[in-house]
Parts: sequence; C-alpha cells; structure tokens
Amino acid sequence: MPLHSSLIAHLAHIFPTGALYTEPADCWAYGYDNSRRHALPEAVVFPTTHEQVVDLVRLCNQHGIALTPRGRGTGTTGATVPLSGGVIVSLERMGRIVEFSPENRYIVVEPGITNQAVQDAVKAHGFFWPPDPTSAAYCTVGGNLAYNSAGPRAVKYGTPRENTLGLRAVTGAGKPLRVGVMTSKGVVGYDLTRLLIGSEGTLAVITEATLKLTPLPETKRTLRAVYASVSDAARAIAKVMAQPVTPCALEFIDGNAVEMIRQYSRCDLPPRANALLMIEVDGLVQGMDAAVDRVSAAARTEGLLELHVAQTEEEVAALWQTRKALSPALRKVAPQKINEDIVVPVSALPALIAGLDQLSARFGLPIVNFGHAGNGNIHVNLLLDPNKPGEKEKAHDCLNRIFALVLTLRGTLSGEHGVGLAKRDYIDRELEPNALQLMRDIKRQFDPNGILNADKLFPLI
Ligand SMILES: Cc1cc2nc3c(=O)[nH]c(=O)nc-3n(C[C@H](O)[C@H](O)[C@H](O)COP(=O)(O)OP(=O)(O)OC[C@H]3O[C@@H](n4cnc5c(N)ncnc54)[C@H](O)[C@@H]3O)c2cc1C
Repeated sequence: MPLHSSLIAHLAHIFPTGALYTEPADCWAYGYDNSRRHALPEAVVFPTTHEQVVDLVRLCNQHGIALTPRGRGTGTTGATVPLSGGVIVSLERMGRIVEFSPENRYIVVEPGITNQAVQDAVKAHGFFWPPDPTSAAYCTVGGNLAYNSAGPRAVKYGTPRENTLGLRAVTGAGKPLRVGVMTSKGVVGYDLTRLLIGSEGTLAVITEATLKLTPLPETKRTLRAVYASVSDAARAIAKVMAQPVTPCALEFIDGNAVEMIRQYSRCDLPPRANALLMIEVDGLVQGMDAAVDRVSAAARTEGLLELHVAQTEEEVAALWQTRKALSPALRKVAPQKINEDIVVPVSALPALIAGLDQLSARFGLPIVNFGHAGNGNIHVNLLLDPNKPGEKEKAHDCLNRIFALVLTLRGTLSGEHGVGLAKRDYIDRELEPNALQLMRDIKRQFDPNGILNADKLFPLI
C-alpha cells in the first residue's frame, strides 16, 4: 500500500533531496539481503545525523509505519527485508569517525562506517577492532553490532559484545539514548549496551558506537593440521583450547569439505585426510617459537596425519588457500545451498558431525561442514537442488532435525548470523517460555508500537 502523502511530505521535510527514495525502482535494491529474500519498501531514507533518526522514528510512530534499519544488507537471515513494507532507514551515509583516542584505546564511530574502514583507521596507530567477519570490506559496524557478528578472531578476542564500550541510539519509541561507558570498566545500572548488541535492530537504531580497541600483535604464525577422523580433530581442538596459548584462529573443515577441496582445487592433502584444522597464533616475536611449540604439542593427538607450520608469507597464503577454496567449490556445486551457523560445546563436535552424516544419508542430501571450531561454531551447508521436485521440503525437514540435534547436544541455533526471518520460527525450541516472554516484554518497552524491524526475531503468535 502506498504511503500516505502527508507522511511523504513529512519525510521530505526531514530528508533533503537525494536522501529520500519513494520510486519503486529506486527502493527495489533496499528490499533484499544476502538471504536472497526480497520485499519492496515504500520509502528509503538516508540520515546523516542522530537528530534525523530521532525525527524519523517519531514520525513512523505517529503514522504506525514499519521502520527497518539497514547497514549494507550483507546479513544472511533476512533481518533487513521489509516484510511489512514501510520505510527502510539506510545508515550507509552515517560513516564518520567521531573521535579516536589511542591513549584510551577507543574509537567513536557512526554506524554506517565499514568494519574495514575502522581497521584501516586504527592500524597506523598499532590497534585493531577484533570483530572480523569475512565481509569486513563491505559490511557496516552497525550491522556487526546489531547481529553481534564475528569471525575467526572471536576465539581469542571475542565478539562485538566483548569489544564495545557504549552506544548512542534511538529507541523504537523515538527516545534518544546513551548507554555504556567510555572506560574499560563500569557497572552502573543494567547493561543495556550488550542488550542492544545482538538485538537485530528490533529495539533501537544505533547511531554511534564507542569501540574498544586492542593492540596489534607483533607477529602471527599459521599451522595446518590434518587428521584421519573428525574425532581425532575434535580431541585436538579441546587440547589446543585447554593450554595457555589461545590461538587467534582455530578453523575446522570436515571430511566432506576435504573431499570437495580435493575435487575442485589443487590443494595437496594426505590421502587419508578426513578433517583439517587451520590454527593461527599471534603475539610477541620473542616467545613465538615457544607458543607455536605449545600449540603444536596440543594438536599432536592420535590420528594426526600431518602438521605443517608455514615459514613464509607465501606459505601462509597457500595454507589458507585450502580454506578459501571451499566457498567457491560449494557455490559451484549448489548455488542455492542452505548455510546454517550452529554452535555446540567443543567436546560435542564429533557427535554433531556423526549426527549430520546420518541425517545426510537419511535425507539423501550432501552436507558439508566447516567453521570456527575453537568456539564450536560450525557452518552447516545443505547442498540442495531446489529444482528437483520435493527437494526443498526434504531440506526443510532435514534442517528441523539438525536443530533438534544441536539442542540435544546443548548447543545454540546461531553463533553469528542471527535469527531474522530465517530462524524466527525455531527460537522457541531453544528459549524457555519465561525467557521468551521477558524478551517480548523488553521489546514492548523499547518499541511499544512494534514498528522497528517488525515481524523479525520472534515466532509469530
Ligand atoms: C561474503 C560474506 C561473508 C560473511 N562473513 C561473515 C562472517 O565471517 N561472520 C559473520 O558473523 N557474518 C558474516 N556475514 C554476514 C554479514 O556480513 C554480517 O552479519 C554483517 O555484520 C552484516 O552487516 P550489514 O552492514 O550488511 O548489516 P545488514 O545486513 O544491513 O543488517 C543486519 C542487521 O542489523 C540491523 N542493523 C543494521 N544497522 C543497524 C543500526 N545502525 N542500528 C540498528 N540495527 C541495525 C538490521 O536491521 C539487521 O537486523 C557474511 C556475509 C557475506 C555476504
């Protein structure tokens, strides 16, 4: 339904020419994300100030219009897809650095800045911001915060929740809000910063963030460990994580993924390879040999077929090529694969992979697994062909059972991709009714009219 002309006139009052789209052809590209879902918004606005966001949220409340915050739309769960139409607030033009304080190890940024732009700005001063999604060059800090997105480094340095001091935001009711601290410690009041982080744009629009920075390590070493079985690799993961040198990346590739790498790239892997770990260690130059020795010793479990420590930059690149060959290979085989990002306790990884193999055989669907093993966060890829009759339904059924398996193993349904639309109907299997009710109550406190990212996160009643 087209927006009321008085609402358009008010939007045009807040947003100057070029900062408001209402033509369907202009709005179209803002209706999808990387989940490949799409719905057409009725308007798209591009604020450049916090005050414009306050005015916008208040206006949408007055008119009862759905409002969906959007970074760059790289999310994979449909969280920015405007199912109810309404207005998309694209934060991409709020990309300034507000303040950088190397002596206090923080940077204050607007939400539309890309993750990479933050890394580039602080690198020259010897710092980095730990969250490192592979999409860093394109995704925004606002999106990273709203999804609590991370990457390989989370195993040592944590996610946005552990690396953000405070936020400025506008609640769904249109109230401006500052939460958190500018210090590395603080315990005054409830922790609303970490409540907003991971809330997927359902409680408030983030308009500024104070990010906690970490000094860059002096050096890094990369190891590749190849195992005869997933259980052997899982034992090694547990041992590596239980010794004092925490790796800054501990990535896992299962036997099916190893097979795909063999077929689609020229990586040199031992014939009996059935699981592979990529391990990275960072720190001071002095002491790095000892750190690598400690990690190597932990990785040397029964079933180890090969352990290689890269000696040059070229070798590091060659080792990572194994991991990087995977995504293109999967895309070639199944362009419409389903990619889940479940998490289980590290000790449950063998049971998870065994269970996934059984489900793969039962449903006749190839399943390929890899991911951030140090956190037990596995990307489960169902390689379906949606053009085959009944395949989509089969995949859906299989997914249901995968989630049941994960919960039986005391895991969680998402490690970093979030809920959005994709997992909305499953979360009540993980969350207790009282917890879910409390979350709905919190949503109502922040957003009494339910305009912000409507229809997302919660199962429909
Ligand atoms: C090639 C590729 C690789 C990826 N690799 C990773 C990875 O390694 N790890 C990982 O975790 N994810 C990964 N992702 C997923 C995605 O990039 C991340 O989730 C990212 O954080 C999304 O950022 P975005 O700016 O695109 O946000 P969007 O997709 O635009 O939005 C994501 C969510 O944030 C909300 N939102 C955005 N901005 C704000 C704001 N200012 N205030 C309130 N809410 C807001 C939206 O409403 C939505 O709920 C990958 C995606 C791709 C395409």
